[in-house]
Amino acid sequence: MAIQKQKVRFFEEKLSDYFAKAGRDFLPWRKAGITPYEVWVSEIMLQQTQVSRVVAYYTRFLKRFPTVQELAKATWEEFLPYYEGLGYYARGRNMLLASQKIAEEHEGVFPRDVRELRSIPGIGPYTASAIMSFAYNDKHMAWDTNLKRVVGRFFYGSKKAFIDEEWFEKTFITKRRELNASLMDFGSSLCASRPKCNTCPLSSRCVYFREKGLQEREEKKVKKLFPDSQAEQVIVILHEKHQKYFSSVKKKYQPFILSEGYVTRAAIKEWFLKKYTLRLAVRPPHERLHFGGRKTLVVNAQILGGEHDFLIFPKQALKEYTKGSLSSC
Ligand code: SF4
Repeated sequence: MAIQKQKVRFFEEKLSDYFAKAGRDFLPWRKAGITPYEVWVSEIMLQQTQVSRVVAYYTRFLKRFPTVQELAKATWEEFLPYYEGLGYYARGRNMLLASQKIAEEHEGVFPRDVRELRSIPGIGPYTASAIMSFAYNDKHMAWDTNLKRVVGRFFYGSKKAFIDEEWFEKTFITKRRELNASLMDFGSSLCASRPKCNTCPLSSRCVYFREKGLQEREEKKVKKLFPDSQAEQVIVILHEKHQKYFSSVKKKYQPFILSEGYVTRAAIKEWFLKKYTLRLAVRPPHERLHFGGRKTLVVNAQILGGEHDFLIFPKQALKEYTKGSLSSC
């Protein structure tokens, strides 16, 4: 489905108006001239924690550790009182490790490069894009669930739509800092899980609104049934208890990529049975993305029976594959 640029402009204008009236400019991490370090602290704290809880932690933390160098000098015992209560202690440990790496290897400066940022502990694709856009004002969309939900519903009719992220990155003209912030605010207020369409300034051209949310409701059922009429290929992550990961090729880790005709649960099972005489349990898709220009589902599968000689890799190999090949699609 080709999306008209004029519709994209409408979307951007309405969001910009909304942001001017109702944006959360008062949040401390929205101040002008924010540093990459400050963006990073806010993004790590905001993972899995509500905005209202994070504000007080964030302010106190930055008072005690105003720069990445100060943080890098801290011990876990010194760090903990300023983090305790946010939970997810692996995140906290990663913060210390990351600060040390930035202080030692990058002279205390967060790299202005997505790949380099992603080599730092605890920084994934979303956080890297957030640093690039909010601190460096580079042209990166920070695709979190809010952004995907708003763009997915407005342009395609469903928060689970296959979004051509690359196309949108090229087509949006609004400054990224503002666009990301407005989409985040819009997605957490109006176009939330239960959208408030009747008061939404985008409703006149929104596909979700026009279809009364039909597609999204249907997809909920489809997720359970798992054939997906739009999918063109599927990436199967074959594993054993999420500890051993099996590769489709020798030497390096690569998941199994099946194309059209094999994108349903039944077809995936049949393919593995015929090709390798393996019986599988296949989970519903946990991700939908454009990979190699094709609408792609990502599914996990476990071997229930049969012999194989696939190379075995640790979870780290899957993480690296996801960071490398899947993130650049
Ligand atoms: S009309 Fe409803 S679904 Fe569409 S963007 Fe607005 S709130 Fe979201």
